[in-house]
Amino acid sequence: MIKRSFFTLTPPRLNYDLVEPDPKEPESIPIPSDLTLLLNEPIDSTRPALIKKGDLVEKGEKLRLYYESTEYTISPVTGTIASVDSYSDDFGNISTYLVIKNDQNQTTGTNAITYDLKDDIASADEYLRTLPGAPPLKILADDDMKIDTIVITCADSDLLSTTNQYVTCKFLDEIKEGTQILKKITHVPKLCITIPENLNIPGGFDTIQVFKTSMKYPSNLPAMVLKDHLNIVLPAGKNPEDMGVCFITAEAVVSLARAYKTKSAGFEKILTIIGKRETQYRVKVTIGTPLYKILNTFGIHINDQDRIVIGGPMKGFATYTHHHPVRPDMDMVIIQDRDIIPELSDNACVNCGKCIRICPVNVPVNILVRYLEADLYEEAADKYDLESCIECGLCAYVCTARIPLYQYIRLGKHELLTLRADA
Ligand code: SF4
Ligand code: SF4
Repeated sequence: MIKRSFFTLTPPRLNYDLVEPDPKEPESIPIPSDLTLLLNEPIDSTRPALIKKGDLVEKGEKLRLYYESTEYTISPVTGTIASVDSYSDDFGNISTYLVIKNDQNQTTGTNAITYDLKDDIASADEYLRTLPGAPPLKILADDDMKIDTIVITCADSDLLSTTNQYVTCKFLDEIKEGTQILKKITHVPKLCITIPENLNIPGGFDTIQVFKTSMKYPSNLPAMVLKDHLNIVLPAGKNPEDMGVCFITAEAVVSLARAYKTKSAGFEKILTIIGKRETQYRVKVTIGTPLYKILNTFGIHINDQDRIVIGGPMKGFATYTHHHPVRPDMDMVIIQDRDIIPELSDNACVNCGKCIRICPVNVPVNILVRYLEADLYEEAADKYDLESCIECGLCAYVCTARIPLYQYIRLGKHELLTLRADA
């Protein structure tokens, strides 16, 4: 049971959670009758589709919309495609979702298709992008990226989550195997690993450099790891990949080790769930499972205006539906009761300065947000450091006027990218 509250107006105590000693097995959620998979490509009705409603698919089968598609997903079960439709995310980006009927009542033990996996990154990228933990194989396979450092994250990046710490404690040998595979297939010269400073890991990691990360938020965010451990200050508007550094979660590394051992994909994702009374659960669930299947297992009932947050309390986003599927990169889900959701407001800024004092990269948040409210995105970037923000969410957390600063900033960055793309 987690004792402190992140959802009420208590003063911030922003330390990461530590996984419990000798954690027990997660609750295993049975494979549901329908699974939903997202494909990062919009439907184009002018092109002949490779998949359609009624098609039979096999467990492990690669599914693409069109012959030329570079985006794909992998079916977690043998079954039938029940629908193919458009999906719009928070920012209005259009992609596609597929519903697959598990009409053969498969269990997790059913064998998946095997792949002709070779010891190179192109082969891994061909089949393994959607493994649990979502290994960033597309980035690693991109020659233009020039990645020279891989950072394996055993430290969870948002508060309350213990997903990657759990994986680290339970599957340390597979992390070591996966690390060797990463080395072999990518030829990246430098591999590092983040471990929370209070987490006891027996033995060492041979040639891998270990970064002991502070328990204080936001020290596990990529920009902070770069600064604190690799001596790299992330320039405004850049990603770690632009600096030659690629982050991969402990769970993704374990998934790679298993995939290379079995020559097939795995589909069981570990998730941290925080229930309405802040009770923490850990589950093992097939990718594509709708969230309500997990919530039902623990008797968590969703009422009108309760909030489902995908991700942690600082960086997560709310979804409007409990049908939202488990995705390969999803580490945590929080259920907030409508009675304790802190109210956001359209109050004016009271110039208390809290947001500026807490910002780890010194963004003048109170002024920035005025430009964002006025849709002045270029000015916000040029004069008020919009692109320097590392998206920690601390400003929104402390804001006296309860202005949704973090949401404004995320939307502002998205609008800026769209403006520049259009230009
Ligand atoms: S989210 Fe807010 S506090 Fe965090 S880096 Fe961005 S502006 Fe600063
Ligand atoms: S914390 Fe909120 S109210 Fe205070 S200065 Fe920042 S934006 Fe204004």
